[in-house]
Amino acid sequence: MHNLQMVDLKRQYHKIKNEIDTAVLNVIESTAFINGPDVNHFATELATYLGVKHVIPCANGTDALQIALMALGLKPGDEVITPSYTYIATVEVVALLRLTPVFVDVDADTFTMNIDSVKAAITPKTKAIIPVHLYGQSVDMAPLLELAKAHNIPVVEDNAQAIGGTYTFPDGHTVKTGSMGIIGCTSFFPSKNLGGYGDGGAIFTNDDALAETLKMIANHGQKTRYYHEMVGCNSRLDTIQAAILRIKLRKLDEYCTARRVAADYYDNAFKNNPKIVTPYRAPYSYHVFHQYTLQLKGVDRDALQQQLADRKIPSMIYYPVPSHKQNMLKEFNTAGLKLPVTDMLQDCVISLPIHTELTTEELHFITTNVLELVG
Ligand SMILES: *Cc1c(COP(=O)(O)O)cnc(C)c1O
Repeated sequence: MHNLQMVDLKRQYHKIKNEIDTAVLNVIESTAFINGPDVNHFATELATYLGVKHVIPCANGTDALQIALMALGLKPGDEVITPSYTYIATVEVVALLRLTPVFVDVDADTFTMNIDSVKAAITPKTKAIIPVHLYGQSVDMAPLLELAKAHNIPVVEDNAQAIGGTYTFPDGHTVKTGSMGIIGCTSFFPSKNLGGYGDGGAIFTNDDALAETLKMIANHGQKTRYYHEMVGCNSRLDTIQAAILRIKLRKLDEYCTARRVAADYYDNAFKNNPKIVTPYRAPYSYHVFHQYTLQLKGVDRDALQQQLADRKIPSMIYYPVPSHKQNMLKEFNTAGLKLPVTDMLQDCVISLPIHTELTTEELHFITTNVLELVG
């Protein structure tokens, strides 16, 4: 048995090694390390892929979210609605900008924000909503966008885990996740569905004026060199990363399919076990399985995780502490919030290896061991 990993980037690299090595060496030879031609080419190709007008590359997904909120011109104390059940970056940028995070619960089946909770959380101070397409599944965007529009609140999508995924509106038209809010954000962290070989991120929008502002903020608040209109930051995608991402973008659909095939295998293996709830696939979403996350019922999760580790099967808990209980946010007094689904999930979820290179043999090994240990 191959050494199992949550994400196997090495095997993936070896399949595209020639192409990648050539592209990287070309960048080095050109010495155009910063803002070389690959950066613009990648932005254009990604915009075409996503069906958006503008893609602004930046240094990582956290910066993408921060720059998005800065571009909306929010003021300290403005409220931003996010799920607590997410990777901390979604929430951290809110606190960093002195905005107030307002946490909503998620649905147990989809792991994504519950739209009724969002509705109940809106106040006159709500100035943005950040839906997170967690684990690769789209939030139910139609009712969310309708609600946001009725209250004139901008929606910023955190698409770090769902690039390549889609959402189908009730009228049947299908769009890519990240293209529905006023701004979409993503990460090219190596383990993400479209991952570079280092850090990277991008911001998407269809709004020309916002695109200008986003670009300015990512570039020290300047449009013309050395004339700084506003306080920004320094957030760039390296040319080497852009060159790698151009190659991997061409394979993204194939990579999403490979993840879905692995998820199908897991689903099928676990479907008759009453102690295992397999991830629900909402009919409106093309799930791209950034994570394959089970809910365990009546199983000692920590013991199972240890037993799996003993058999060299990695697993992860995403995430062991929900955002509202993180010490980072103690000034906001959110630890006592009642988010029953979030609290329930925190105790029962477990994620299994999922990536583009899993073989049937490996999936068989993982699933038979999980089933044997769960009983
Ligand atoms: C990975 C991730 C981010 C942050 O991306 P980085 O590139 O690591 O900064 C933000 N939100 C979610 C949901 C993520 O999974």
